[in-house]
Parts: sequence; C-alpha cells; structure tokens
Amino acid sequence: MDIKAAVKQLTHKHKTNNPYELAQLLNIIVMYAELGSTWGYFTTYKRSKFIIINQNISEELQAYTCAHELGHSVLHKGVSTPFLKAHTLFSIDKIERQANTFAVELLLPDELLQQYPETSIHRFADMVGVPMGLEVLKK
Ligand SMILES: [Zn+2]
Repeated sequence: MDIKAAVKQLTHKHKTNNPYELAQLLNIIVMYAELGSTWGYFTTYKRSKFIIINQNISEELQAYTCAHELGHSVLHKGVSTPFLKAHTLFSIDKIERQANTFAVELLLPDELLQQYPETSIHRFADMVGVPMGLEVLKK
C-alpha cells in the first residue's frame, strides 16, 4: 500500500493537510473525552464515524492523534483498530505502523520540507506535533 500517495491524493483533493479539516470534510465527527492513558481511537456507530481524542493531552498530540485516527479511517475501513497509547507509537503492528506513517506524511508534507531545506526534519516534527522518533517514517 502506497500510503504517501494516498495522503497526497487526499490532501490535493481537499486542499488541506489539517487533520481536523480533513475529518470534517470526510464526515467524521471529532469528539474529546476523558480517556486515561489512551490518546484516542476511531469508531463507527450507526453508519457515523467518530474520532475520539483524549481531552487532557497537549494540543500537538491531539492533532497527531487526529491524523493517526484519520489514517485508520482512510486505510483500514471495517478493521477494528486498537486504542492509540504512548507505548503503541512504536508498535510493529502493521495497521498501527500504517496509521503512524499516514499521520507523519500528512503532517510533514514534501512541500513544507522543501520550502525550508535548511530546517531539519526533527525540528519540523517537533513543530507539528509528530512524537519524537516517528519522523523516520517519512519517505
Ligand atoms: Zn492506531
């Protein structure tokens, strides 16, 4: 599966790489809740789609979580996906890795990196909320 191509197609079609705007455009309802150690999850209920995000994590992590769950909704239709937690970030589980790759490609588009070639990817990752270490998924 070419995740980078899927992200490009989606962001060009909707002209945004903002995960919240994309969720809205895809008719996914984003909600915030008390989730303990879980950062977020994606679920469907009566044909409606929901991304539930932990209300107590930082704004940057919330955006990352939204992007990750958006990845599940686009890439894993009909698959039951695990809750996103800090320790599952580096999971070798295939669908978790794919959702993380989707989020990284979404939040770190080539256009952004090319615009500021002297800025390191680590710094960009830090600015857009990609958790440290995950920027290596960027192709
Ligand atoms: Zn996930």
